Amino acid sequence: MAINILDEETINKIAAGEVVDRPSSIVKELVENAIDAGASAITVEIKDGGISMIRITDNGKGIEKEDIRKAFYRHATSKIQSEKDLMNIGTLGFRGEALSSICAVAQVELITKTEGSLTGIRYEINGGKEEAFEEIGAPDGTTFVVRNVFYNVPARQKFLKSPTSEGGAISTLMEHLALSRPDISFRFISGSSPKLQTTGNGKLKDVIYTIYGREIAANLIEVDDTEGNISVKGFIGKPVIARSTRAMEQYYINDRFIKNNMIQKAIEEAYDNYLMLHKYPFTVFGIYIDQELLDVNVHPAKMEVRFSDAQQVYESVKTILLRALAGKQIINRVELPEAKEAPRQELPASDSAFGKNFDLIWPSTNNRAVEIFEDGNKKEPVMHEQAEDARLPEPFEQVRNEEATLKKQMFFEEEKKKYEQTELITPELLHEENLTKINVIGQIFKTYWILEYGDSVYMMDQHAAHEKILFEQFMEEFDNANVSRQTINPPIIVSLTEEQIGILNEHMDSFEEMGFEIDEFGGNEYAIRSIPSNFSSADKKELFLETLDSYVSGSTRSLQSSVRGRIATMACKAAVKGNTYISKEEAERLIKDLMKLKNPYNCPHGRPTIIEMTKYEFDRKFKRII
Ligand code: ADP
Ligand code: MG
Repeated sequence: MAINILDEETINKIAAGEVVDRPSSIVKELVENAIDAGASAITVEIKDGGISMIRITDNGKGIEKEDIRKAFYRHATSKIQSEKDLMNIGTLGFRGEALSSICAVAQVELITKTEGSLTGIRYEINGGKEEAFEEIGAPDGTTFVVRNVFYNVPARQKFLKSPTSEGGAISTLMEHLALSRPDISFRFISGSSPKLQTTGNGKLKDVIYTIYGREIAANLIEVDDTEGNISVKGFIGKPVIARSTRAMEQYYINDRFIKNNMIQKAIEEAYDNYLMLHKYPFTVFGIYIDQELLDVNVHPAKMEVRFSDAQQVYESVKTILLRALAGKQIINRVELPEAKEAPRQELPASDSAFGKNFDLIWPSTNNRAVEIFEDGNKKEPVMHEQAEDARLPEPFEQVRNEEATLKKQMFFEEEKKKYEQTELITPELLHEENLTKINVIGQIFKTYWILEYGDSVYMMDQHAAHEKILFEQFMEEFDNANVSRQTINPPIIVSLTEEQIGILNEHMDSFEEMGFEIDEFGGNEYAIRSIPSNFSSADKKELFLETLDSYVSGSTRSLQSSVRGRIATMACKAAVKGNTYISKEEAERLIKDLMKLKNPYNCPHGRPTIIEMTKYEFDRKFKRII
């Protein structure tokens, strides 16, 4: 179709808004044009995060000589002709606004040649003003060079981020584009370093491997299924590769990368029984639906779509994902069998004197103990996060889940009051001189420790207590700029996405301050050479990735965005979990360490570490006192 200028009526129907707000949106528009032009190979090169230069070369069908100038007019497109075409869009572009918007705010050079013409044309247009139009020898296809983005719009320049983060956004975009079209060979070069190269062999799994590395590619479940008039094709991650942000929930509608709440909900609900709280799956799949049931004309940057029946899309996607997850491949998810727990029983008997055997029981100083703690770590949903969400103590929560009869209502109101009272425990419990007077009775529910002291019984949450100890110890080291690190030999190698690499490089100093030593290992791989030694009982790789992810999601959660929040995350990762057997000595060590803290009574998330019930309350319950 030749390029035509849309009529007023059609223009008015097009979702209006900003097309170009940063270099990545220019890359998005130009690569989409290359895809629409039928290219099988697309190369993107950028300098300074795309701010000083973006070059995009494709081997698509090119632009006819007489269409070139027109292509840069507003509302000029070869992809639709009239309003009725808006209902049935088969191309990524259709608004005819990208080229006009880009040439208005940058210096643009275009070289293009169609198959049928003998020579190519070189066209130059700066800030919307034509500078050159000449014949030139060129291969079939199109090259756009965009220089000095916003050179003539100083107000806009101010909003550009650092070249690293603009470049990072382009990297992520290129990954999404490459994943959306495994049949196209993409090449992405930033500065002089090649960042991404896909073969275009049509195999999505190969693209996933190229971008995310071995570990992710080895833990995928293939989906190729239809439900109603919706098909889903692609890969979803086994629970072992779940992440702590939604960034890896990736999906495409008819090859278009978008964000959609209903699909997000379908994904997360399908994974509900497979993932811990606050863990999000890895997915890359395409949803295919009749174009007529889909409105792509709802968002200026085409990042959203509207379905004629969103509920049905949600249900179909969820059903398909549930079917895939219920398949046999998932079985190795349960990798925390009883057998692994057995060694716990072999720990030294619990008759040791308080304070002895610390070397045996403390994770950072003893390998065997580390193993035990690590097993525990893998096991359990993070309990405090549940409580944090609910903002209620667990006993209260349990009761809430039962029938809400008036009687129970009254009961738990009372419980709640009691809880609030008991939160303030007799402070002298945690004075060191009283150490020998504490009688450690034992563990209940594999989570809480019962202690007797004076006229009270105390219940200590082993996870909250350990978490708080790690947190305060580390905060102190951190505040004194005296963080001790533990060398990991051999180093642990992790594959990072371009976005993660950008964030890591941007925050390398603060990673170092926290005790991480990370360096490049070639390609997208990085070597973790040391971690903060306080947290050496954590799964080291997860500790690092979790910390890195907390920078990605930083802006969304105020607690997480601060150093404190990050340290709390690390402490939580490294602390022994609930529902885990620990020995009496370990519990005694926890009590002893709690005593050294400034505020031993609450975990970093505000939950109590210890609660108290007095003898008086026992007596009352048993009606000894009325
Ligand atoms: P749209 O993509 O919405 O049609 P654009 O402003 O992005 O609008 O592009 C205008 C027109 O320029 C397109 O419709 C297409 O005909 C032509 N065009 C742009 N880029 C290319 C390309 N890489 N190869 C061939 N044609 C292109
Ligand atoms: Mg376009």
